[in-house]
Parts: sequence; structure tokens; C-alpha cells
Amino acid sequence: MQMFVNGARVDAASGATMEVHNPASGEVVDRVPKADADDTRRAIEAAAAAFPAWAKLPPAKRAHVLLRAAASARAHLDEVAQLLTSEQGKPIRDSKIEAQRCVENIEIYAGLVLGGEPSGRHVPLPAQNAIGLVVRRPLGVVGAIIPWNFPLTLLANKIAPAMAVGNTVVAKPASTTPLATLRIAELLHDGGLPAGVLNVVTGPGGVVGEEIIRHPLVRKIGFTGETGTGKQVAKSAADELKHVTLELGGSDAAIVCADADLDLAAKNIAIGRFFNAGQACLAIKRVYVMDEVADALIDKVAARAKRLKLGSGTDASAQMGPLHTDKQRAEIESQLADAVERGGTIVAGGQRPAGEQFGQGYYFEPTVVVDVPAEARVWTEETFGPLLPIMRVKDLDEAIERANASEYGLGSSIFTRDMTAAQRAIDELEAGYTWVNAVQIAHDELPFGGTKHSGYGKEHGTEVLDYYTEQKSVVIAS
Ligand code: NDP
Repeated sequence: MQMFVNGARVDAASGATMEVHNPASGEVVDRVPKADADDTRRAIEAAAAAFPAWAKLPPAKRAHVLLRAAASARAHLDEVAQLLTSEQGKPIRDSKIEAQRCVENIEIYAGLVLGGEPSGRHVPLPAQNAIGLVVRRPLGVVGAIIPWNFPLTLLANKIAPAMAVGNTVVAKPASTTPLATLRIAELLHDGGLPAGVLNVVTGPGGVVGEEIIRHPLVRKIGFTGETGTGKQVAKSAADELKHVTLELGGSDAAIVCADADLDLAAKNIAIGRFFNAGQACLAIKRVYVMDEVADALIDKVAARAKRLKLGSGTDASAQMGPLHTDKQRAEIESQLADAVERGGTIVAGGQRPAGEQFGQGYYFEPTVVVDVPAEARVWTEETFGPLLPIMRVKDLDEAIERANASEYGLGSSIFTRDMTAAQRAIDELEAGYTWVNAVQIAHDELPFGGTKHSGYGKEHGTEVLDYYTEQKSVVIAS
């Protein structure tokens, strides 16, 4: 597949390409251009050239262009989902949901703009015969840098609000998952999105990503990825004083109180941990359960982990696919080995599944480990795979203290019937999101983003519009 720049499919000027592999088999699915800094600059210049006309379109017209473009993509969701499964590895039904959510996001932000968002303000001024206004303007060219775990939803989180308010975009997908993104860009263009409004450049993060971050024409970076890369992005972007949103790693804690509905807690914990083979930023990665109900909860979560059906993404009955890469699986295995060496006990999973069907794929069983000391890596690092440690605690004070003893602050959950305990979790957990007795999924309607080393800035909600516009004050004297 080729890159998508200025409304056309293009190769890297050098002709270089890189392979895209299927995580279920290791086979090469396709090749994409391996762009360099010059290729990236051409895409940035195309986005800059498209910006004035796109920004000047009356908002309702722009929204209708986006709605027509989204309809064009919506007509090909199955094809996009198949591409996503072939490059990412996730089950096809999850890919379909992701492709649909990507298009929905574009529709939601077009709809918000149709409804008058983002709104400014009229401010009465003390001076006679003068009125004050706060108006919003788009920023210009936005760089969107995306990881491989949710290539389409994390793309949409950035391009949908950015384009809706009049910015143009240069997107860089992860090198291992460019295909569905390229196809979405083509489909949006086929549906009438003007050339240059959305460009997709494929190539290494250290080259293409760096050029996007450093180029003076790019005014804003929306980045999702690892905390280490995010810190590098923030440093590089500082030279040009760019706006930056950083959605980084997480190690979300879930607290289970003695009065909790344990079936509900176990179900939501299993979904929160094993969805997308545990490769999600917002995912329950640590559980703290009160002593009185610990054995019962551990049994229920372990039983759910053992029941999950592993399989290739193309197997319609599979609930969990392979991990995305061999490196990803090796990291989970090494974090589990560390937990066991320190005295932890595996109560579910713990191995690569046996069977011919798992042949060359990067599969790993859904795994639950208990009685692991607090110094172990599963508590201190992000675990980006199907591995869940559960710790017994004596009370809510200890649970909250341990939950907060992490450098991350993305999501958090509590299961309890006691509103006072829930209120304490809401007030005291250091995270961008707290779910109470609820399944840990992010809602488009609510702002999402972390605190501490999980990053800053918000995606989703109307709040995201603040991060893709700037405000200007106006005084009108008569
Ligand atoms: P990485 O940080 O390795 O990569 C993310 C993106 O950044 C990729 O497109 C990558 O390109 C690019 N990149 C890499 N190096 C640079 C650089 N020096 N300059 C600019 N861009 C660069 O993250 P992963 O792909 O490994 O994604 C997993 C991580 O993402 C996890 O930590 C996870 O928690 C986090 N994440 C956070 C979310 C949130 O919203 N908070 C949501 C989902 C994931 P290339 O592929 O070419 O290396």
C-alpha cells in the first residue's frame, strides 16, 4: 500500500519500503513506504497549503464535508476491519467495533460543530461603548502520532476534533500498523475530504515522527504512546513551543471492597484486563482486594481468565488474539518470571498456549498471579499484555495508598456498595478517570487523559476542542 499525501497515493522518494507482519502467523501482509524527513516535509507543506481554505469554510459546511467523508468510510468498515486484524492481530469483531468507532468519532465532532461548538463568549466590559468577545481559532497543521494497540480509535481521537474545528493533519501510524489508517484516509478522501486536509506518512518514529515534531509549520502534536517516548516528544516540541497533548502509559488500579458485588467485579476486571490481549493504556493492571473477600474474588477472576478462548483474529469465535509482537510477549513473560521469582503464585494461565493453531503467532494465556510482593515489576511497571496481579489489603486506606503508589495516573476503578468508600476513591485516587462499579471503557462523551506520568491534555468530550483551538480576545468599540 502507498502513503496518502495531498489527496494522492505516493511512495517514498527513495523508493524504500517496510514490511507489515501478521501477528497471528508472522507472515508479511503488505509493504508500505519507508518515508524520510523530506517525504514528511512534503506532507506537512501539503497540510499547510490546505489549511487556509479548510479553516475558512463555514463550520456547518465543513461539518457536512466530514459527514459525507465519514459515510464513504462507513460503507467499507468490513474491509477496514480485515486490514486491522491482519496487521494488529485483534479478533475481527473487535476490529469491526474499532473501525466503527473511528468513523463515529468523525461524525460526533462534525455533529458538535453543526450544533455550534466550540462556542466563544460575550464578555461585558466596564468601558462605555465597548464589548468584549472570546473567539476560537483553529491552530493550523496538527501532527498526530499513533501507537499500534488501537490504531484507528487513537487516530480518530485526534483527527476528528482537529479537522472538525478547521485544522489540517499529518498523521503517523505505528510502523507495524499503517494499513487500516491508510485505507481510512483514502476512503475519507473518496467521500469528498479535500486534498491535504488529512495526510498519512509511514516510516520510523525517530525519522517521520521527529520531523513532524520539529517542523515549524506544525503547531500542535497529539501523541499517544509510551511514557518514555512522550517525554522525548515534549522535549523536542518545546523548541518550537508547540501545543502538545500526551496520552501515555498507565497502570490502572482496581479496588475491590469487602461489600462489593464480586461477580460484577470479577467480570469487569476480566474485561478491563484481557480486552485487546491486555494491550490497552486504559486497562486494569493491578487489583487490590480486601482480605475478607480475596479468595472468592481470586477464584472468580481466575475462572474467567481460564475460560477465555484464544485464537487468530480471523476466527470468529476467538475472544483474545495474539500479542502484537514477539518482543511484547517476551516482556510480559519477563515480568511474570520476576513476579514468580519473588514468591508469586500463578492461579491462571502463565504460558504460551499449546496447539498447532497457535504455531507462529505471539500468543500468551490470560494470566493471574497472586501473593506478589510490592517491589515486583508487575506493580511498579506498566504490564502491556494479559497479565494481572492481585494483592490482598486490609482496608480502604491501604488500597488507596497502594493504588496511588505508582508513577502512572491514567484510569482507576472501585467496586463497592458503600457511597462513602466510592466518594473517597473519586476524591483521592490520582487518575484521570475513576469508574465506580462500572466496566472500564472510555466514553466519547467524557474527557479522557491522564495525570502524573500518564501525560496531559484531554481527548474526547467537548473538552478536547480546547486542545485543538486557541482563544483570541476581541474588543469592539462603537
Ligand atoms: P511508542 O511510544 O513506541 O510509539 C508510539 C508512536 O510514536 C509510534 O507511531 C512510533 O513510531 C512513534 N515514535 C517512536 N519514537 C518516536 C520519536 N522519537 N519521535 C516521534 N515519534 C516516535 O508506543 P507503542 O507503539 O509501544 O504503544 C504502546 C504504549 O502506548 C503503551 O505505553 C501504552 O500505554 C500507550 N498508550 C497510551 C494511551 C493513552 O491514551 N494514554 C492509549 C494507548 C496506548 P514507530 O511505530 O515507527 O516506532
